[in-house]
Amino acid sequence: MSALAEHLRTRIAAEGPITVADFMAEALGNPRHGYYTTRDPLGARGDFVTAPEISQVFGELIGAWCAAMWDSMGRPAPVAWVELGPGRGTLMADAFRAARTMPGFLDACEVHLVEASPALAARQRESLEDAPVRAVTWWSSLAEVPRLPVLLVANEFFDALPVRQYVRTASGWCERLVGVADGASGFRFVLSTNTARESTIPESLRDAPEGSIVEVSPASVEIAADLGRRIASDGVAGLVIDYGHAASAPGETLQAVRGHAWADVLADPGEADLTAHVDFAALARAVADAGAVAHGPVPQGVLLDRLGIAPRTQRLIESAADRRAAEAILSGSRRLADPDQMGMLFKALAVTRKGAPAPPGFA
Ligand code: SAH
Repeated sequence: MSALAEHLRTRIAAEGPITVADFMAEALGNPRHGYYTTRDPLGARGDFVTAPEISQVFGELIGAWCAAMWDSMGRPAPVAWVELGPGRGTLMADAFRAARTMPGFLDACEVHLVEASPALAARQRESLEDAPVRAVTWWSSLAEVPRLPVLLVANEFFDALPVRQYVRTASGWCERLVGVADGASGFRFVLSTNTARESTIPESLRDAPEGSIVEVSPASVEIAADLGRRIASDGVAGLVIDYGHAASAPGETLQAVRGHAWADVLADPGEADLTAHVDFAALARAVADAGAVAHGPVPQGVLLDRLGIAPRTQRLIESAADRRAAEAILSGSRRLADPDQMGMLFKALAVTRKGAPAPPGFA
């Protein structure tokens, strides 16, 4: 049994069963043994691959989007260009390249990276060593980032934030918890004997049939609210891209991935990536409650198409070193945008101030 599994069993023995969110937070972020704390999970030899690691086009189109938003929102200087969960720093490095074509933009930017993992922060320092901006600063949460007009990007960040799960029983909604078990995994799901307050469950789901599972992510809602408050008071825009559903819906989406294959959620905490689908409607509600406006979500394929993935891909193919390189560029773009690959499941939500026009790709 891993050191983290031992720690969790000791914690549960002392406190009783813990929430799914606490289990997920420990598995991913335990300061000594958490999944992200101890490794760089990205890439072919890691556990999963993300859009910026598939193709440079992704970060370039997002960089151009950010530069265009900054320009249309009055060119504030300084502006905080914030990325939540920057992984290897690839998206930002590609974004800088595209953003160079907007005169004045990079000179106005302070880059603020929100990263919990020391291993990945080290990768980001390498990728962004020669960043062509005023400064690059690392933080462990959005709450710490200084208040300035903000351009915020988050790709595959919210899916890593802990979710709580509730099950509809005959007597109401009861929280699903993680307790210890004797079997190989060492853990099992148990139901809380208390019923949850009704306000915990999104209004549209409260009457779901017995047996339904609902996931809510208080950590995601808190960050979306912070983003909404910042944009409402300090201005500019946010872009959140992730896999998930446009409307709040019942269903269990918590999943474990290890070595590019599905794994058991409760087995080997700290050794597999745990994620849940993002509830974009919940993020949009939090943004609106904070006084800003959410646009979308639109499917990733639609957004990339509207932002010009086809001509950008064509230009890269024309300047490719050889046929193999050209084919890799083409297949990367297809993987990002095709509806049966990442184009439909992944979605983008934009955030602006009230009264601002819909951002590029969202009209
Ligand atoms: N955006 C990158 C990486 C996605 S993986 C890409 O698209 O390639 C998720 C990222 O979020 C990692 O960098 C991970 O370390 C970071 N992360 C996960 N949970 C976090 C948290 N609670 N606070 C800050 N960063 C977190």
